[in-house]
Amino acid sequence: MQVPLLDLKAQHRQTRAAVMAALEAVCDEQAFILGARVADLEKDIQKYIGVSQAVGVASGTDAILLALMACGVGAGDEVVTVPYTFFATAGSISRLGAKPVFVDIKPDTYNMDPARLERAVAARTKAILPVHLFGQCAEMEPILQIAARKKVPVIEDAAQAIGAAWRNRTAGSLGQAGCFSFFPSKNLGGFGDGGMVTTNDQAIADRVRMLRVHGSRVKYVHEAIGINSRLDALQAAVLRVKLKYLEEWTKGRQRNAARYEALFKQANLLDRVTLPTVTAENRHVYNQYVIRVQRRDQLRTFLQEQGVGTEIYYPLPLHLQVCYKDLGYRPGSFPHAERAAEETLALPIYAELTEDQQAYVVESIKKFYTSP
Ligand SMILES: *Cc1c(COP(=O)(O)O)cnc(C)c1O
Repeated sequence: MQVPLLDLKAQHRQTRAAVMAALEAVCDEQAFILGARVADLEKDIQKYIGVSQAVGVASGTDAILLALMACGVGAGDEVVTVPYTFFATAGSISRLGAKPVFVDIKPDTYNMDPARLERAVAARTKAILPVHLFGQCAEMEPILQIAARKKVPVIEDAAQAIGAAWRNRTAGSLGQAGCFSFFPSKNLGGFGDGGMVTTNDQAIADRVRMLRVHGSRVKYVHEAIGINSRLDALQAAVLRVKLKYLEEWTKGRQRNAARYEALFKQANLLDRVTLPTVTAENRHVYNQYVIRVQRRDQLRTFLQEQGVGTEIYYPLPLHLQVCYKDLGYRPGSFPHAERAAEETLALPIYAELTEDQQAYVVESIKKFYTSP
């Protein structure tokens, strides 16, 4: 049996007719950059997230960059975030000449540990950037409280968490701004790069709209030095079609997570495999289903031989990356992030995954731990 980590072709079979029709309509219009299709998607996302503003941009990375710019982050500033995330979270901070200041994660949810946040917020802190990793929101209540007390904005990296919620408040509506990615492997993926900034703050939305087109509100008049980061109409057309299916796909991912839990229990593997922890406040949307295991790398190789695709998110925490040598962190600086990097493994979780495929994944893991 073959079980890929992600099977986008299975999803495409379901949406193909509607997506192709939407693409054809854009081709007939020959209006490719921003425009009415992107505005339509912005409205749909506003409604879905429950915010007053959504601004389409070229990628999730740019969504973070532009949200930081709109909040006035620049050279010499500090932004507090986590070291256990995709590089774009911290890279966007650095691109602005600001410094990422890391705080460790919680070992159960892999999200920012609010207990360590307060100490990291200093006079130069211009923003707090929690990540809703794998599709589950960070512990937002204490994070928002600390931010309010210190008077710094919270920008959510919600790239993996579209549709997730914390105490019934959606990811992307909790802080001053939310940043989404439409990278193809995200829960709402386009046919290429794309991103969105969500906010209830009209001023932030206006600034992002201005900054995404070279800092210009009026054509050829530039009030700030922005960037070129526009969502295109072809992506918006695809995403509008797919957004209609997102809840159904999310429920599929949640059903699959529940199935894994039952299967791992049945297989008596719970002493070997630590399943994802979902806290009571959270609606987890499982962009990734990440387990913690011993002998992770050997297990991964074994599963590959069995035809099961897996991935390591992320093998090297950001504070230990070569490009961040100068920040002065070292092995041991963030033990929970480092241990997670050594022990976690993402299993296939996409909505179209069958029960037989999941049973095969769990059987294969059982085989690895029980064969001599
Ligand atoms: C995917 C991702 C991003 C970046 O999104 P792109 O669209 O690939 O630029 C940022 N942060 C996290 C946590 C991500 O998973």
